[in-house]
Amino acid sequence: MPSYVITEKCDGCKGQDKTACMYICPNDLMVLDKEKMKAYNRDPQMCWECMCCVKICPQQAMDVRGYADFMPMGASATPLRGSEDIMWTVKFRDGSVKRFKFPIRTTPEGSADPAGGFGTHDDLNSEALATEPASLGMDAVPTR
Ligand code: SF4
Ligand code: SF4
Repeated sequence: MPSYVITEKCDGCKGQDKTACMYICPNDLMVLDKEKMKAYNRDPQMCWECMCCVKICPQQAMDVRGYADFMPMGASATPLRGSEDIMWTVKFRDGSVKRFKFPIRTTPEGSADPAGGFGTHDDLNSEALATEPASLGMDAVPTR
């Protein structure tokens, strides 16, 4: 089931050009109504419930309706992302609550090298990926 915005909590990311949910959605679904300063999902049927927006929203103003097979009515699973870990609060139908905390990174925030220490090239006509051939451990990408 698609994401939705809890409007009482959404502050429109204080009117920045790109809100956190707009920045993170891989489907480019989130938009900000600048008059109301509330975000909304412009095409819910295209939402694949990845929960990225739920995790990044600084106001905890986004949620995803869980499918009934794993989240029956009255239950919920809510993530709270920190810089080091993520906490899932799972509420069961009988009202009991359990929390699970998982580490989400092994390096300090902002320190990850996207190229993995390999040099990159910017030749868009090349068949090689940006870090190849170095990341293949070769001098040149094999060709047929
Ligand atoms: S990230 Fe959260 S607070 Fe910011 S615009 Fe989206 S729903 Fe609103
Ligand atoms: S759940 Fe994923 S696909 Fe759906 S609106 Fe949020 S970020 Fe986009």
